[in-house]
Amino acid sequence: MNALAPTLRRWLAGERIGPLPPRDAGQPPPALSFEFFPPKTPALEEQLWACIRRLAPLAPRFVSVTYGAGGSTHERTHATVSRLIRETSLVPAAHLTCVGATREEVDGIARAYWQAGVRHIVALRGDAPSGTAYVPHPGGYAYASDLVAGLRRVADFEVSVAAYPETHPAAVNPAADLDNLKRKLDAGATRAITQYFFDSATYLRFLDRALAAGITAPIVPGIMPVSNFEQAARFSALCGTSVPVWLRDLFEGTENDPEIRRIVASIVAAEQVRTLQANGVDEFHFYTLNRPELTYAIAHILGVRPRG
Ligand code: FAD
Repeated sequence: MNALAPTLRRWLAGERIGPLPPRDAGQPPPALSFEFFPPKTPALEEQLWACIRRLAPLAPRFVSVTYGAGGSTHERTHATVSRLIRETSLVPAAHLTCVGATREEVDGIARAYWQAGVRHIVALRGDAPSGTAYVPHPGGYAYASDLVAGLRRVADFEVSVAAYPETHPAAVNPAADLDNLKRKLDAGATRAITQYFFDSATYLRFLDRALAAGITAPIVPGIMPVSNFEQAARFSALCGTSVPVWLRDLFEGTENDPEIRRIVASIVAAEQVRTLQANGVDEFHFYTLNRPELTYAIAHILGVRPRG
């Protein structure tokens, strides 16, 4: 996937390449993965499972379940992943962070996942409670690369890690952040999933830099379909994702018009994934926010059809 398509070279060189070419008739549909968060209430649980039932026929490669800040959702993440194993044929991936726990505690959680049948972990550092700087737990894994190495000692997990096309906000500089990604992959991770971004060129340039740094593992773009612009803008400020002026302009005036907002949102997301697909990207990770409609529509546009 990291081999850049010729269109990208031209695009990065500033050439206007005009309308996106149609998908080739013989082009296989991309591989997808979907991210969910563990629900807090029975109503949200119902919403999550309706979302899972809607998206499951798209046969994702895996579905991942996030881990709340400070390990706060440990039980709920475990319960959701266990239910996925019991009630579906989907392949679950459990997110796990270093925050607020000793290595032994984290290893224990990983061991319990393995015993429950989980074979894929998304290994993350996690963040400190809002407004405070991250400090490693004494006796804990300090960074995601340490966690990856620890997981590999626990069991033969498939491990995915995070990557940042716009550089992690706490990184000293982009080169150091790329070194960190390389450390995570060298420690045993086999795939990176990116923080979401709105400017496709940013991601494509990041792939180029990663390739130049000798990274050959897949770096799967994380796609956040925006249904609530104000909320997305607030969250983007926290996680270091730039919000382009053109995106703000597109959503301006749609605040009280959910129908139009949904249509604009689908067009924005469709254009983003089609640009990436036209540049050779063949795997996508969707931050579903436990809502299926936009993700389903975008998957359809990418050529993915329900199975079974
Ligand atoms: P790391 O890779 O450890 O990097 C964190 C920072 O430390 C970077 O700036 C890095 O450059 C720097 N660094 C790394 N090693 C060193 C070192 N030895 N010395 C100095 N600096 C170093 N958060 C959750 O709480 N739960 C989730 O479920 C969750 N899921 C996510 C899924 C994806 C796909 C992504 C992209 C993020 C997710 N996050 C989640 C957010 C993530 O926890 C935060 O972005 C966090 O701030 C960094 O995590 P990381 O694994 O990238 O950390």
